[in-house]
Amino acid sequence: MKVGIKVKFWGVRGSVPTPGVKYVKYGGNTACVELRLPDNQLFIFDAGTGIRELGNSLCNDVKKLNAHIFLSHFHWDHIQGLPFFMPSYVKGNQIIIHGMDLEGAKLDKILSNQMESIYFPVKMQSLAAEIQFRKLSDESNIIEGAEVDTMYINHPGQAMGYVVTFKKTKICYFTDNEIPPAWAIETIPLRYRPDTREKILKLISGADLLIHDAQYTDEEYKTKVGWGHSPLTEVAKLAEDAEVKRLALFHHDPDHFDDNIDVFMANCKETESCNVTECFAAQEGMELHF
Ligand SMILES: [Zn+2]
Ligand SMILES: [Zn+2]
Repeated sequence: MKVGIKVKFWGVRGSVPTPGVKYVKYGGNTACVELRLPDNQLFIFDAGTGIRELGNSLCNDVKKLNAHIFLSHFHWDHIQGLPFFMPSYVKGNQIIIHGMDLEGAKLDKILSNQMESIYFPVKMQSLAAEIQFRKLSDESNIIEGAEVDTMYINHPGQAMGYVVTFKKTKICYFTDNEIPPAWAIETIPLRYRPDTREKILKLISGADLLIHDAQYTDEEYKTKVGWGHSPLTEVAKLAEDAEVKRLALFHHDPDHFDDNIDVFMANCKETESCNVTECFAAQEGMELHF
């Protein structure tokens, strides 16, 4: 029975936006995923360029907006859309931005910095909506009646993964996370946390949906060890070990055209390790219901 949760992908691309005819099927906007709880509460994961169109669609609604934005980290492809999120310019809207602090840089400062006049004409402080910042670390919270578990993952400069559980439905968002094959572990820089996979497995166990970084083919990964993104086979294995029901491959490489992702998917389906019930490449505009 469906509980009434909706997930919609507004941006699925990693690293940099990719406009153009080679990217029509999967889309060129960077990371942004909408999660709607049954009472219409709005959670948004990441504020890549995909958040612009999501924001525009929200402005059609006459009611005042209350939204929670959860950031995985602060690389451009995850925050660059934020200044173009139109609900921020509407008085009476309330937007709560959740994310981690970094050493020597707090969440609010990191985000307002990208709206300093050198980079953008409107300062964060002059936005009309009420913007709040909430610091998260490795922990468990209840937000709008949902359990939100967070954990640090493997990515240069730090990143955070999210698991939202609402009435036993579990949705997991793990982008920009490197799950290395055994042969690569020794060559990964010191900051790599070897227990990450174990911790993720526990958190995502039996999930209804796992959205996970799968930027590289296994072959491509060989020259990208330590870059903070995962090869396909390891992601498929993780999903299978955790017995997740649906696996959405996410954070597509900017050099992967539509045709490449089609082949990528075909390979995933042929892989012995990919036995999850449903495995697919996330696509801009795609909606899932739970
Ligand atoms: Zn990224
Ligand atoms: Zn990143």
